[in-house]
Amino acid sequence: MPISRLLIANRGEIAVRIQRAARELGITTIQVYSAADAESLAVRMADEAINIGPFQAAKSYLNIEAVLAAAKATGADAIHPGYGFLSENPVFADAVEAAGLIFVGPKGETIRTMGDKAAARGAAQRVGVPVVPGSEGRVADLDEARRLAEKLGFPVMIKASAGGGGRGIRVAETAEALGAALDQAAAEATAAFGDGGLYLEKFIGNARHIEVQILGDGVNAIHCYERECSLQRRRQKVWEEAPAAVLSLDVREALCASAVALAKSVSYRGAGTLEYLYDEKSQSFYFIEMNTRIQVEHPVTEMITGIDLVREMISIAGGEPLRYQQSDVRLSGHAIEVRINAEDGSHDFRPSPGKVTALQVPGGMGTRFDTLLYAGYAVSPFYDSLLGKLIVWDTSREMALRRLGRALGELKIEGVITTAPLHQRLVEAPEIRAGAFHTRWLEQWLTTKMKPQDAMMEQSSR
Ligand code: ADP
Ligand code: ADP
Ligand code: MG
Repeated sequence: MPISRLLIANRGEIAVRIQRAARELGITTIQVYSAADAESLAVRMADEAINIGPFQAAKSYLNIEAVLAAAKATGADAIHPGYGFLSENPVFADAVEAAGLIFVGPKGETIRTMGDKAAARGAAQRVGVPVVPGSEGRVADLDEARRLAEKLGFPVMIKASAGGGGRGIRVAETAEALGAALDQAAAEATAAFGDGGLYLEKFIGNARHIEVQILGDGVNAIHCYERECSLQRRRQKVWEEAPAAVLSLDVREALCASAVALAKSVSYRGAGTLEYLYDEKSQSFYFIEMNTRIQVEHPVTEMITGIDLVREMISIAGGEPLRYQQSDVRLSGHAIEVRINAEDGSHDFRPSPGKVTALQVPGGMGTRFDTLLYAGYAVSPFYDSLLGKLIVWDTSREMALRRLGRALGELKIEGVITTAPLHQRLVEAPEIRAGAFHTRWLEQWLTTKMKPQDAMMEQSSR
């Protein structure tokens, strides 16, 4: 059944992004909002908007009853969950379908298998996709964890099965540190996800984070090449690129084929991402998790393939078969995305909410700015600090870096402190220019190269 009225159960830049795709498909957009978001760009842009509760996410954006009641009250026929919030909640996906509505995403059952990270490891192994050496399923207690860790060799990583957004993860360097690390990871996971279940992986030092975008219609599945997201802080992505500069053609082909095999094995429907760690020395990749939703960094893939991923996920949810064969998906040029957060780099990246007094948005060829901002908007302290994503495309990585520097120079956000100056510094860094980095490189660079004084000078000179 084609979708005609789409409820967007999210906020911020992704809500705006989904509205754009829906409008181009001739679909009416219905935006939910919390009391804190009444003045948001997403509410202003939507055809219709409906208040679903107070600012607390638990009472609004995470409140399944409130979202379903809003869908019913507005006559929506489908719900797009965006990323974060309810997007990977199988109970929500099932409840949407039980209410006779379309969930823009995979079946609840698929989210259950692939959204649980310990279970997804098993699914990968069953189709021969290599995983990081680690536990089979969840670990029951400290004794089991200790035995396994001795076998794997320290350091080991303790990860929440239900984890996401970099939370519920700890590294244990030694057997002595294991107990405390397990306790901390379990406590963080229980608080964040209501599920303290943990599993263990060998810690892969100096790896790169490379992930494969896939699209499936429940019958067929294709890949849209890979992204590299190794530049991270606290295991959250800061800067993303497509394609990954380090892959040989053979490795790229094997990596993408493994992702398609795994997606097909679960009859995947919608847009999804399989994340891997990549070891440059041995040219080996290891599956770590699947995100059963649209990702923050999806635009870099759109820029190198010309495929509108959000449009595709909506049309698949409306019952259309995949409109692309694998051979239709061509990789062209290089794209980079940087996340512009309302954070103060000179004070340990603490959030910097407040009113945006002036805004100048970059433009020009190959330049895209996906944002929730408008001049005069008051950035809320209640939600995550992502203000927007600056995305550039050019014919080569080197040219894309130049274009990024140029576009960052045009971006002016006054009234709040942002991470734009950090990205200006990164564009100039020799390691970034050379593409020589790994998942811990940025944190190391921040402690050695980005002294607090530098960050401050950078900001006051803007
Ligand atoms: P993606 O996997 O889509 O690239 P991230 O890995 O940065 O995005 O984040 C994963 C999910 O966690 C996203 O859905 C995002 O909304 C959420 N998230 C990101 N950062 C935070 C944070 N600081 N606190 C809570 N949730 C977050
Ligand atoms: P989340 O669901 O929070 O995104 P992931 O499993 O994707 O968790 O891991 C987040 C990040 O943590 C990865 O991108 C990588 O930088 C790091 N990481 C994850 N697993 C390992 C590992 N086994 N060894 C080293 N680093 C890892
Ligand atoms: Mg991840």
